[in-house]
Amino acid sequence: MFRDRELPIGIRKSMPVKDMEPTEAFTGEPMPAPGYSQTAELVHPMEKPLFVACLIISMFLYLCILFFPPFWGVGVMLLLLGLISHGLVLGHIRGNSIRVSVHQFPEIHQAAEQLRQQIGLGEAPPIYIMESGGMLNAFATRFLSKDYVVLYSNVVEMAYEQGMDALKFVLAHELAHVHQGHLRRRWLIGPALLMPFLGKAYYRACEYTCDLIAAHAVPQGAKGGLLALSAGKHLHQRVNAESFAAQTYTEGGFWVWLAEIASTHPRLPKRLAAIMELPIVKQSQLKQELLAQDSSAPTHMSLQN
Ligand SMILES: [Zn+2]
Repeated sequence: MFRDRELPIGIRKSMPVKDMEPTEAFTGEPMPAPGYSQTAELVHPMEKPLFVACLIISMFLYLCILFFPPFWGVGVMLLLLGLISHGLVLGHIRGNSIRVSVHQFPEIHQAAEQLRQQIGLGEAPPIYIMESGGMLNAFATRFLSKDYVVLYSNVVEMAYEQGMDALKFVLAHELAHVHQGHLRRRWLIGPALLMPFLGKAYYRACEYTCDLIAAHAVPQGAKGGLLALSAGKHLHQRVNAESFAAQTYTEGGFWVWLAEIASTHPRLPKRLAAIMELPIVKQSQLKQELLAQDSSAPTHMSLQN
């Protein structure tokens, strides 16, 4: 259990007031869809200021390139290099991975459609399943004005073995990146994203935003989804989530701090602590525990026997 002041500050501030109220979690009814208006409230408070900072620096660098002809060659070369390398990676993925459809992994197709509507995304991007050599992950990417989501095969294997909730959380996180325009606007702030700490700070704020949106869309899969990224598709079921989240505060120091600010993603214990404090996730957890107790309790018939 964490006190409110111990949570990452950005997450604490972004917690919507309406989530403090009881929801339908106890009634057995489906969770309310967040919808566009609510997902706007879930944006991490540092995301927009960091975007503006990146935008100002990027515009300055773009103008430098524009007004100084010696930079034109470098600018064009970097643009072409980025375009070709990204195109090759995506071409490899599209050429070799399995595209999800109504005929191919229809359960995932259906989950994506449901999440798209919950999040308020107009059209679901193509989803590919890629062999991952044991790694558990997923990512969203954009190339020539088109978005794509890639799920590593181990995440999908986990879903078919243990249930869809964790995969739905991971998928909702990636769809949230598309919905929030994180990929669409990236070219605008491209030069600033290459700056060591500023770009990474913006990326991390985006990650918190997408975790929050995904946790509101799939509260029952949030904890499992993040733990699976930490411990793998089998071991994550044995992880004590509270103890792991507490590592946010017990595992500190200069190198841990430096490793995090040099990374595009926040530390996993911090991400876990942030979503575990959300009332909608707590209610979902409580509901799952009550259901587990109900199913393990002796029935009337068995008591008679
Ligand atoms: Zn992400």
